[in-house]
Amino acid sequence: MECDVLVVGAGPAGSSAARAAAEAGANTIFIDKKKEIGVPVQCAEAIGEYLIPFLPFRIPEEQLIWKIEGMSFWAEGIAIGRSGGFWSAYAINREKIDEWLANNAIVAGAKLHLETELTDLEFSENYHVTKAIVKTGDEVGEIMPKVVIAADGVHSKVLNQLGFTNLKDKCGEVLSFELNNLNLYKPTYEQLYIGDFAPGAYAYIFPLSKSRANVGVASSFPGKKLERCYAEFLEIPEVKKQLRNGNKVVEKSGWAPIHYLTDKWVYGNVLLVGDAANQNFKPFVEGVLPGIICGDIAGRTAYNFIKGRNLLSDYQKHVKEKLGNFFSESDRLSDVLYELGKPSDKKKHLLRLGISTDIFSPTEIEKLKKERYNILKNKLER
Ligand SMILES: Cc1cc2nc3c(=O)[nH]c(=O)nc-3n(C[C@H](O)[C@H](O)[C@H](O)COP(=O)(O)OP(=O)(O)OC[C@H]3O[C@@H](n4cnc5c(N)ncnc54)[C@H](O)[C@@H]3O)c2cc1C
Repeated sequence: MECDVLVVGAGPAGSSAARAAAEAGANTIFIDKKKEIGVPVQCAEAIGEYLIPFLPFRIPEEQLIWKIEGMSFWAEGIAIGRSGGFWSAYAINREKIDEWLANNAIVAGAKLHLETELTDLEFSENYHVTKAIVKTGDEVGEIMPKVVIAADGVHSKVLNQLGFTNLKDKCGEVLSFELNNLNLYKPTYEQLYIGDFAPGAYAYIFPLSKSRANVGVASSFPGKKLERCYAEFLEIPEVKKQLRNGNKVVEKSGWAPIHYLTDKWVYGNVLLVGDAANQNFKPFVEGVLPGIICGDIAGRTAYNFIKGRNLLSDYQKHVKEKLGNFFSESDRLSDVLYELGKPSDKKKHLLRLGISTDIFSPTEIEKLKKERYNILKNKLER
């Protein structure tokens, strides 16, 4: 097969890229190794309201299944609430939203091939892909694209083929379950917990309704088993009270990038989007809406490149124009939080609580590191 644009991966970033490229007029193929779009879900299913105005299209109201008014943060027995503006969000159903996004791409003219896995890429010079080898069941096929959009997530085969391997230490692991029958103390607040039970990261309770939530623990550093982290998290009295009668509905665990996997988002005729490009915002590793927004830019840039109207490297410039401030802030927070997370102690938990709640600024962190535990605690309790 020949095509203008081959999108590898039909998650939020890939489907958005396929839709944009096809809508612009590019002959677009998007493939996913999954049998069914969006399954299994590997997400806590929250999207920040502040990013909605940056989306290339309107999300139908029925996709926004639960309104989140704010976030509640916990560390060392201190709870801090934040609400409105940046802190408000929606819960979504990832399976449904991924399906809807893929369907939009199909309606725009992109051809979807499910159960089709990219296994190899052939290059000419300078990372220029000439051929993609894909496998559907026992059948092996070849696709000759003008542009490849790598939207194949955190364990990207495209990155691997470009020569980026050993990415595991740049990613964090999350053990997560949807639980029902919960006794949530504030069902319209997302809860984030900082402590040794989530090494360098967070544990969370993200409500999906009054009595249902995604509950997970994340770790940025390998070592402690996540099952043990999860068990320790459930022992926190505030958590225990809410989850005591909870039943596991389904597992939603996965991996997320926490550092840049590459130093660029464009190699030859390959554009990287979504998790394959670490396009998520820290501290919450929020990747769904950034993936959709960057996917849209990648799809349009690919089409304009084929028409000779721009360079592929313009993609990075266009992303910066649209989301540059969010990426800068995210990178700044990410560096500080990562340093504080390895290895963590009680004082560092307080510092991370202060930064996550915007009470402490990353610029004052060196000074705050010298303060005693009780002083920091007093500052936060105030
Ligand atoms: C447990 C967990 C909780 C999270 N919670 C949130 C949250 O609440 N809010 C938020 O915004 N973000 C969250 N994230 C991050 C978010 O899920 C990702 O940033 C987002 O899914 C990235 O979208 P994507 O399209 O880049 O990749 P993905 O959604 O991972 O899609 C990649 C697709 O590529 C396909 N693929 C992979 N390799 C190949 C191949 N070789 N050939 C063909 N297809 C292939 C996969 O099957 C997959 O469908 C969470 C992540 C995890 C792990």
